[in-house]
Amino acid sequence: MNFIPVNEPLLNGNEKKYLCECIDTGWISSEGPFVGRFEEKVAAMVGRKYGIAVSNGTAALEIAVKALKIGEGDEVIMPTFTIISCAMAVTKAGAVPVLVDSNKYTWNMDVDGIEAKITPRTKAIMVVHLYGLPVEMDKVLELAEKYDLKVIEDAAEMHGQTYKGKPCGSFGDISIFSFYPNKHITTGEGGMVVTDSENLAERCCALRNLCFRRDVRYIHDEISGNYRFTNLQAAVGLAQLERMEEFVEKKREMGKFYTESLSNIEGISLPIVRTEYADNIYWVYGIVLKEERAVTNREVVKRLAVEGIGARTFFWCMHEQPVYGKQGIFRGQKYERAEYLARKGLYIPSGLALTRTQMEIVVEKVRKVLQGTV
Ligand SMILES: *Cc1c(COP(=O)(O)O)cnc(C)c1O
Repeated sequence: MNFIPVNEPLLNGNEKKYLCECIDTGWISSEGPFVGRFEEKVAAMVGRKYGIAVSNGTAALEIAVKALKIGEGDEVIMPTFTIISCAMAVTKAGAVPVLVDSNKYTWNMDVDGIEAKITPRTKAIMVVHLYGLPVEMDKVLELAEKYDLKVIEDAAEMHGQTYKGKPCGSFGDISIFSFYPNKHITTGEGGMVVTDSENLAERCCALRNLCFRRDVRYIHDEISGNYRFTNLQAAVGLAQLERMEEFVEKKREMGKFYTESLSNIEGISLPIVRTEYADNIYWVYGIVLKEERAVTNREVVKRLAVEGIGARTFFWCMHEQPVYGKQGIFRGQKYERAEYLARKGLYIPSGLALTRTQMEIVVEKVRKVLQGTV
């Protein structure tokens, strides 16, 4: 039996050609010419002035937080239902994540829960667009303006997505992307910070590379790390970008096929096809088990694996992370809707290399598992 993996990237464009160019010219480090070109293209794509490519999306978040000089005593509002990269960027800087519950239908942060969390210590709102639909940005931007807060935008899953026609990645004072292989555009590992602020861009460049002082090398005023992005990664990225629209279209077709094929299964919720501000781009195709089903997402993922289907559970909430439990920073907090998604949400194979035949098999197995499960 051929196992269908949860994600397989599509690398059959110019990836190999550009990689060979790196080898032939000897440019394989972060000094190579593809890096700048890739940065310019990604920044231009989302209408930003500056793009700073870094080693991964997690690094991009860390750099974004540090670039804004968020630190000890500061608070950053973010969803509890997200990847730990978001909370880690804040806690590593010595600041405190302040959590907000999820919207039951879009799975994104409930923007109506933000204002009550604002205190005199709040420095920023970190929005994280999840699973293919953007956060309701108008409300976030209104609050940021009213309370003079920075906006950090995690658009890791949003390549090619827009909010009311404006690209995701263009909304934050500082915004980030990831190019991990399960994102619409991949470079293997990789990430980028984008911004319109020259000052922030300069800070990000320094933070990416050991915080060398600009006037003299090997003199440092701040601690950072090596978060550089290589010419090899940029080579893959440039080839991927050439197919951006095709990839987004393919994901939407995949979403449409899954929704049509799975909608008559009882006891599950499927992703929203569109909201008033965006059409879903299905970062991955998620399924949420309804309350009438006693089974957990972990159990369903296990049963799908037995059938040869790769699936993953949704994110686990930040306030329920053992590592933060030990530190006691979210003690006693409860976020009902986010906890529900974390226990009942899962996603099925949705990588760009997935074929129609594979999708048909996925549908058949999902149906078999869910119809035989209470
Ligand atoms: C993938 C992802 C990240 C982290 O990116 P890496 O490149 O894997 O470090 C951050 N935020 C979100 C929302 C993601 O989906």
